Amino acid sequence: MITENIKQILTQIPNNVKLVAVSKTKPLADLEEAYSAGQRDFGENKVQELTEKFEHLPKDIRWHFIGHLQTNKVKYIAPFVHLIHSVDSLKLLNEIDKEAKKNNRVIDCLLEFFIADEETKYGLDLSDMDDFVGAQNFVPQRNIRICGVMGMATFTNDTEQIRREFQSLHQIFQVLKEKYFADQPHFCEISMGMSDDYRLAIDEGSTMIRVGSTIFGKRR
Ligand SMILES: *Cc1c(COP(=O)(O)O)cnc(C)c1O
Repeated sequence: MITENIKQILTQIPNNVKLVAVSKTKPLADLEEAYSAGQRDFGENKVQELTEKFEHLPKDIRWHFIGHLQTNKVKYIAPFVHLIHSVDSLKLLNEIDKEAKKNNRVIDCLLEFFIADEETKYGLDLSDMDDFVGAQNFVPQRNIRICGVMGMATFTNDTEQIRREFQSLHQIFQVLKEKYFADQPHFCEISMGMSDDYRLAIDEGSTMIRVGSTIFGKRR
């Protein structure tokens, strides 16, 4: 099933769009099956669950952190995490930089933007960016690399609303690219789209989709 689901999705999406298999709450056996099918990018949203899975699974897996990240937990994932999708404050960015430095590595990050009309979601808005840049240490930080943006659409059946929200994230990406990252080719990722809306997200410029239940089945 899992193998079939992955193949099915891969045939539907363009080559330049990366598939992150969101394996949160799922047992190791499910991840192993996906791994056998060739999947290498996995997404988790809890630090402890991520570190446990990291310990048990092959070391060529690229682990994506997609949940809300508390600064005091950065140290547990800093040695190995591939991409942190959910940077929503300068404080968190600085902490990631510090822990990356301790591990003698550069950690790739995405800035999470608030595009939904739900109070429960996290994220920056464009006006926060002046603080980021105003805080001198934005550009010179050497142990983090900002590779793009991430966002989650509202949980709704209104596809036009979802489409507008994805468009707004694409626009934010473009503004940032022009204003702050014009000379940085690695600033190229737009992480948007989940099981129910990844086709819409790709239409609107997604470069990375985060798909859980369509691969692994419903979560309890
Ligand atoms: C759980 C989760 C997903 C995957 O959701 P599905 O609807 O199961 O595909 C994607 N992104 C984030 C941030 C998540 O927390």
